[in-house]
Amino acid sequence: MAFFEMAKTAIRTVLERPATRPYPYVPAKRTGLSRGHVVIDVSRCISCGMCMKKCPSEAICVGREEKTWAIDRLRCIVCNSCVEVCPVKCLTMDPVYTPSFTMRPGMEVFDITYVKPERPAKKEETE
Ligand code: SF4
Ligand code: SF4
Repeated sequence: MAFFEMAKTAIRTVLERPATRPYPYVPAKRTGLSRGHVVIDVSRCISCGMCMKKCPSEAICVGREEKTWAIDRLRCIVCNSCVEVCPVKCLTMDPVYTPSFTMRPGMEVFDITYVKPERPAKKEETE
């Protein structure tokens, strides 16, 4: 009896379509809630380093002097913490997944282009 049960399962498994997709040859399904990869708007980043401090996998490196923001996509576990903690909301989560790699790509480095606005000059007091 157990043999027939097992044979039935084996035949069904052979005839059914695979439960997995041969990604990346077949694109992965995405929804609006999918976490694909972190994207930065370099024109708004104030180099505060909050994302680097909060990242649990140490995937982010903020260079204050060099004005760079870098991410190691292979270290990133797509937890969304950096997106949530960024005070100026210049990080977003794109639902498109990072392409697969055949070699370790290293850090992806972005030049920060944010320029701090100058304070308006104080008006001289009139007597
Ligand atoms: S999504 Fe998470 S793991 Fe990836 S860089 Fe942001 S904080 Fe780090
Ligand atoms: S991305 Fe956001 S949290 Fe990270 S250094 Fe820039 S402003 Fe700060």
